[in-house]
Amino acid sequence: MLNIVLFGPPGAGKGTQSEKLIAKYGIIHLSTGDIFRANIKGGTELGNLAKSFMDQGKLVPDEVTINMLNAEVEKYESPKGFIFDGFPRTAAQASALDVLLQSKDTEISHMLALEVPEDELRQRLLLRGKDSGRPDDINPEIIQKRIDVYNSKTELVKVYYEKQGKYKGINGVGEIETIFELLCQAIDTNLVMK
Ligand code: ADP
Repeated sequence: MLNIVLFGPPGAGKGTQSEKLIAKYGIIHLSTGDIFRANIKGGTELGNLAKSFMDQGKLVPDEVTINMLNAEVEKYESPKGFIFDGFPRTAAQASALDVLLQSKDTEISHMLALEVPEDELRQRLLLRGKDSGRPDDINPEIIQKRIDVYNSKTELVKVYYEKQGKYKGINGVGEIETIFELLCQAIDTNLVMK
């Protein structure tokens, strides 16, 4: 399987690049943010719980997020692989993901981190908020909170994958197509598949 963690701060372009990667590699896109938003739309219990954290720019608690992700992965019978987008965001989530993949006799192939300066992130998110109507993209304070949570909690996840020799930083500023090429190069070289 080809299992990619697509990493980066809010607004780094993970969703955009995921769409292109799934088309090229035929793997499944699992975005925890998208799954939470689908639950909010559907008015589920999980959605109501997640909303209370998301609206404040906070992380949804690990246990809830991990259980949800495990259940999503289990839905697929013999997948070619997954792109994990927005997950893992904490060290606990990263080790839970390793345990889950080990139970399927596979592992993360690459952790690709899109790197974008904070000023650019703030601009992109405010712009996205105008079109998407995502409540967490409209308020500059909530945007800042999400960037702060990324810097204080999520950035550490890089170290987790660095220790496994799987981390690769990718310049996330420039043309969408150029960034996509960089991601594909990183995937196609050092391709470790299990
Ligand atoms: P972005 O990367 O632009 O912040 P996402 O759609 O990935 O957008 O996430 C939106 C919100 O969903 C986050 O701010 C957080 O509240 C929640 N969320 C998404 N993924 C996770 C996760 N792995 N752990 C905890 N909370 C999460």
